[in-house]
Amino acid sequence: MTFSLDRRGLLQTALMAGLPVAGGACQTAAAQTDGGLRLVSLPTRVFKVADLAREGTEAWFVNVAVASEAEIAANVERLEVALFAGQNEVSRRTYPALAARTLAIPNPPAAAFRLNEQAPSAPPFFPFAFRIVSRERAALNVNRMRITIGLGDAARGDLTVSADIDIGVYEQRTALIFPFRGAGIVTQAGAANGGHRNRSGQFAVDAMALSPNYAVQTGEAFAVNNDLVGFGRDLIAPAAGMVVSARGDRPDQPVPGESNEDYHLPEFRGAGDPGNHVIIDHGTGEFTMVAHLMAGSLRVAAGQRVAQGAPLGRLGNSGDSFAPHVHVQLMDGPRWEFANALPCRFSNVNAQSLNRGEFFMAR
Ligand SMILES: [Zn+2]
Repeated sequence: MTFSLDRRGLLQTALMAGLPVAGGACQTAAAQTDGGLRLVSLPTRVFKVADLAREGTEAWFVNVAVASEAEIAANVERLEVALFAGQNEVSRRTYPALAARTLAIPNPPAAAFRLNEQAPSAPPFFPFAFRIVSRERAALNVNRMRITIGLGDAARGDLTVSADIDIGVYEQRTALIFPFRGAGIVTQAGAANGGHRNRSGQFAVDAMALSPNYAVQTGEAFAVNNDLVGFGRDLIAPAAGMVVSARGDRPDQPVPGESNEDYHLPEFRGAGDPGNHVIIDHGTGEFTMVAHLMAGSLRVAAGQRVAQGAPLGRLGNSGDSFAPHVHVQLMDGPRWEFANALPCRFSNVNAQSLNRGEFFMAR
């Protein structure tokens, strides 16, 4: 990955070479420039995944923020996304000022762009961010994208900040099974499917457990958690490993159909609180998180080894949850706040892909 600052086209400084890591991706990180401006992209490893085969497309997702050492008063003048296959540019899309300003997210919270636990939470300032979802023909073989953001700064004139981001294909190392058995429906999926957008969750799957004939509710009522068929379904370890984090002290949301922030942890209020959850280190550089367990149902503790299929607890409605469901994600580190999301498949699921709205049967 290369970061550069181009000031009126005169200064172009390549700052940082990529460090190759397994899976064909590139380790990326923030780099300082002379002008105090840089781009920070999260996740730091970006992976593309194939869409349903009919269209022959693939998609990927990245958050990009302009970071500045000093507070700046600048307007977004241009956003450009160029795609490369090797050295060949295969596509370029330029958003002029009005479009770029529409897409820009002003003043994103600095905490959202904290790279790791060690990184300071104090500013740099983040005047703008962009969420960029890309969907392209798989035949183009895109493996790198160049994001260029043009800024107009009253004091310093026109500034251009650019970053190259490697787009990898991930080879899953751990064979996973879905964390419950039986029928289910995907209620939210990955970022490229309009779903989870946070760094470690961008390939996460939310699923409700259903009756054998795919009923969601036990009857007419939709008033309490027990009206949902899946509430209390056994949750199991997707693969063997060491439990690195297990939390079971959070209450369930009492009313299905809403995620009441009073039931979120203060630090994750309105921001994806996993509630009761288990994180397992599979010893392969891969970690799974199973979240929103039922209050009082946790069956494991940190430091415990579990076999694939071992009981973790029961499907619940704790944390940032709209109805009893399980959230499962694969990631490259033990802390969901700082890990990168990894694409994942489950060997015991009959569905072709776990997109939103998909019914499936987990054996
Ligand atoms: Zn979720």
